[in-house]
Amino acid sequence: MKSFRRALALLICLTLVFSMLVGCSNDQQKDDNNGNESEQTSGIKPGKYVGKASGYGGPIEVEVEMGEDKIEEITVLSNSETVRISAPAFEKIPKAVIDNQTVNVDAVSGCTASSMGLKMAIKDAVEQSGADMDIFNKKVEKAEVEKTDEEKTAEVVIVGGGGAGLSAAVSALENGAESVILIEKMPALGGNTILAGGAFNAVNPEKQKAQGIEDSIEKHFQQTYEGGHKVANPELVKVLTENALDGVKWLEGYGLEWKEKIGSVVGAMWERSNQTVEPLGTGYINVLEKAATDKGCEILLETKATGLIMEDGKVIGVKAEGTDKNYTLKAEKGVIIATGGYAANPEMVREYLADGVYTKENLPEKIVSTNAPGLQGEGIIMAEEIGAKVIDMEHIQLLPMPGDKFGPSINVEHSFFINKEGNRYVKEDGGRDEICLATFEQQDGQYYMINDSKIIPEDRLTLSGEKLDNLIARGTVVEADTLEDLAKAINVPAENLKATCDKFNSYVETKNDPEFSRAVWGEKIDQGPFYATLRYPALHHTMGGLKINTKAEVLGQDDQPIPGLYAAGEVTGGIHGANRLGGNAIADIVVFGRVAGKSVMGK
Ligand code: ADP
Repeated sequence: MKSFRRALALLICLTLVFSMLVGCSNDQQKDDNNGNESEQTSGIKPGKYVGKASGYGGPIEVEVEMGEDKIEEITVLSNSETVRISAPAFEKIPKAVIDNQTVNVDAVSGCTASSMGLKMAIKDAVEQSGADMDIFNKKVEKAEVEKTDEEKTAEVVIVGGGGAGLSAAVSALENGAESVILIEKMPALGGNTILAGGAFNAVNPEKQKAQGIEDSIEKHFQQTYEGGHKVANPELVKVLTENALDGVKWLEGYGLEWKEKIGSVVGAMWERSNQTVEPLGTGYINVLEKAATDKGCEILLETKATGLIMEDGKVIGVKAEGTDKNYTLKAEKGVIIATGGYAANPEMVREYLADGVYTKENLPEKIVSTNAPGLQGEGIIMAEEIGAKVIDMEHIQLLPMPGDKFGPSINVEHSFFINKEGNRYVKEDGGRDEICLATFEQQDGQYYMINDSKIIPEDRLTLSGEKLDNLIARGTVVEADTLEDLAKAINVPAENLKATCDKFNSYVETKNDPEFSRAVWGEKIDQGPFYATLRYPALHHTMGGLKINTKAEVLGQDDQPIPGLYAAGEVTGGIHGANRLGGNAIADIVVFGRVAGKSVMGK
C-alpha cells in the first residue's frame, strides 16, 4: 500500500514538474511570439495617420493612432454615409479592428458598403504606418459562441423594428401595456421604412386648401382601390384612408416635423403626400424609437424570430435567436408580426408569381432589390406554419431602378432612356410596370438614362442628397463633354445616340412624340457635359402577405382570427391590391401599426 502511495506521490511530483516545464516553455513560447510579433510589427512608425476610402455615400476619412506594435485608437474624421443606416458600422467596425488587431473584420449586415469603406479607410492609415499587413490584415478566427437559453415574458411581443413594429409598440403602450418587447434581427432599427422616400399620403384639408388642392377621403379611397386594380379588401382601404390624417397628427404629437407643403410622389396619383423635414424615412424611425423607449419598450437588436409558440390553438410567444442567447419570449396578450415584405428574397417572390403583371416567364431569374437585406418574408413563413392565410402573393411592384442608381435626377421630364444600341424603346413617363416590362426586352435587360448639364444644380447635389461627383467617382454616373464621348464611354454606337438625341430634341420642340407618345416634356438635351446612368428594374414592394381583418388580427384558413396573433405593415396583404400607390406604404404602417397595438390590448 505504502509503495503504491509513494509511487502515486512520485507520479504527482513528476506531473507537477512536467507541467511547470511545459508551462515555462509555453510562457517562453508566448514571449518568443510576442517578441516575434513586435519584431514583425517593428515596421510600424508610431503616430497618427489619416486614411481615406469611398463608402456608400462618399469619402470616409479616419485617423488611426498606431503604437509600437498595435492599433491604439481609431477616430472617424468625416463621412457622408446615410445617417442611422450606417450607424452600426461606425459603432462596431473600429471596436472590432482594435479588439482583433486586424482590419480584416466582418462587415456589419445592413450597412455593408459603409462597413467596407470604413475598413478600407482604416487599412489605408494602417498601411501608411509601415505595419506588416500579413499581421494586420489577417482574417479573424471566429470563436464559436455557446448560446445560453433565456426566457422573458411581456404582455406584448413585437417582431420587426421598422415603422409598423415601432408604431405598434407605441400604440400598445398607449393602450395600457405595461411591458412590450420588440425584436429586430438587424443591428439597427428601420427596415425598409428608413429607406423609403418618406411620403405619407393623407388627406390634410388645412394644408391642401392653402395650396388650392381639392381632395377628400372618398377620393383617396377610390384612387387606392382603383389604382390597386380593385383587388384590395375595401374594408381595409377604408381603415387606411379614414385614419391616415390621424396618423399624421399622432406622429406630430411625438415630435415629427412635417414640411409645410403637400406634394405628390411618383405613382401617388394625387397631391396628398405629407413629407417629413428629415430625409428619407429617418424622421419616422427617430420619433417612433424615442416614443417607444420613453414609454418603456424593451428593444432587442440582432435578435431574429424563428417561430411562433402555440398553446391550445393560441399564439403565446416567439422563439428567437440573439447573438449569444436563444430566447423564448412569452407574450401574455399577444404577438404582433411586423417583419415587412419579402422583396429582398427573389426566390420567394418567384415562388408565388402567377398571372399578375409579372409572371414566372417575364421576371428575369437574376433581379436585384431596392429593399433592406432583412426583408426575407420570415414573418409570413412563420405565421403560415401555424395556419395563417396569405393573400395577393402574386402581386409585386418593381421600380425601374435600384435605389443606388437614381443618377443625377429621378424626374423624367429632362431625360430620355436608351437601350444599349443607343435607341429609345419606351416612353419615359410611362408606368413603372410599363418601363420595367419594356426594359426586360432590351439587351442585358438594362438601359441608360441620358441627361445634360441643364439639370445639374450649382452645388452639384443630386435629388437623393448625394454629390454628383461621388456618383461619377463610383462609376454610377458617366460624364462626358460631348455625346460622342459619352457614347464611347458607355459603349453604344455614337451615331445612334446622336440620331436619337436629335430626334428627341425635335419632339421637345413640338411636344409630340410620334414613336412612344410621351406626354411629359422638359428642355432639350443639348448642353454638355452629358450624363449617362445605367439602370435596370429592381424588386421594390410585395403587395401580398398575411390576411388580416380591420382589427389587424391574423386570419386562419377558415377566415377566423388566430387567437393571440396580429400583424401590421408590408407583411400583410389586402390593403394595396395589385399595385401600391406611391406614398401609401407609410400611411399603411402607421395606421395599421396603431390598430394592431390597440387590438392586442383588447381595445
Ligand atoms: P414595415 O414597413 O412593414 O414596418 P420594414 O421593412 O420597415 O417593414 O421593417 C420590417 C423589419 O422587420 C425589418 O427591420 C426587418 O429586418 C425585420 N425582420 C424581418 N424578419 C425578422 C425576423 N425574423 N426577426 C426579427 N426581425 C425581423
